[in-house]
Amino acid sequence: MSGTCRVVLADRFFMTPAAIQLLKSVGTVVWAPEKAEKTLMAKVRGATVIAAEYNHITKDVMDAAKGTLKGIVAYGVGYNHIDVAAATERRLYVANCKGSNAEAVAELAVTLILNISRGTHTGDRLIRNGKWRSDQSGDLPSILKGRELARKTLGLVGMGEIGRRVTRIAKGFEMKILVYDPYLSAEIVNESGAEAASLPRLMAEADYVSLHVPLSADTKGLIGEAEIALMKPTAYLVNTARGAVVDEKALLDALRRKRIAGAGLDVFSVEPLPARSQFLKLNNVVLTPHIGGLTQEALEEVSRMTAEESVRIA
Ligand code: NAD
Repeated sequence: MSGTCRVVLADRFFMTPAAIQLLKSVGTVVWAPEKAEKTLMAKVRGATVIAAEYNHITKDVMDAAKGTLKGIVAYGVGYNHIDVAAATERRLYVANCKGSNAEAVAELAVTLILNISRGTHTGDRLIRNGKWRSDQSGDLPSILKGRELARKTLGLVGMGEIGRRVTRIAKGFEMKILVYDPYLSAEIVNESGAEAASLPRLMAEADYVSLHVPLSADTKGLIGEAEIALMKPTAYLVNTARGAVVDEKALLDALRRKRIAGAGLDVFSVEPLPARSQFLKLNNVVLTPHIGGLTQEALEEVSRMTAEESVRIA
């Protein structure tokens, strides 16, 4: 570490004054929110560390800081925007802020589960349109007839930092929890009060499927047409992981045909979600704009860890 380091914050994200102060104790801090690769390349020249939330840190961006760059920090948990293979080839460190926003994302996953089960989004829309519970005909629209979580089955695809916290909350609802995570032993899963299951069994038995895996070559499209086809017509899918983990075309088709009961989505393969997205047309979907980690507590933690990891690398 030296006082001549240059830390490039290659996005527009929240950093506490204390985190910025920590970075300044090892050198200079430069904000580079530019999205275009060429502009970003010019800004990272001379960088010791690059921190990025969504901006793609490609091999060309890394090479633009060749000779000075020691590593890259993912502001947050997901690091699919960083070309890790290229970083490894160049012997650069890659760090993320593991666990920093797990509580926030777990609570959002449960929020989405509760929302789609009780139609709070539909109720809100009706009441704002002056319609109380229905269109004034007096009939309770079936869309407002909810379902209870108590004693239902929750299927978790991936049980790391976030999945473990969802398990803890779901136990409060007396839910049965099935877990598909090939990197965890059945003992570890059982110790958390859940049960290890194959992906097909989980998809077929769960009333709620919640995704908590990183996006990688292995998990891209993990929940495809075949997996969705196994779900019960009364089941819901919740995705707070990454959009591309799900085959969105297959999901849209299942939702449109009411092959499944609904979905709660915080993440999409293209973000921001395009205005022409078919998800916007469906009532059996609750949508949030990638707010999983967006709590005061999580932002402070991500900010602190980003600064600490940058200093460790520098
Ligand atoms: P984590 O690394 O602690 O846990 C991920 C788990 O997924 C691990 O237990 C791993 O064994 C498992 N896994 C990996 N590949 C798998 C596969 N092919 N099948 C099944 N399981 C697999 O990560 P985490 O903190 O729990 O976060 C999970 C993901 O959530 C992140 O990678 C990120 O993409 C996403 N995330 C989203 C938001 C948001 O704002 N919506 C915020 C934070 C994280």
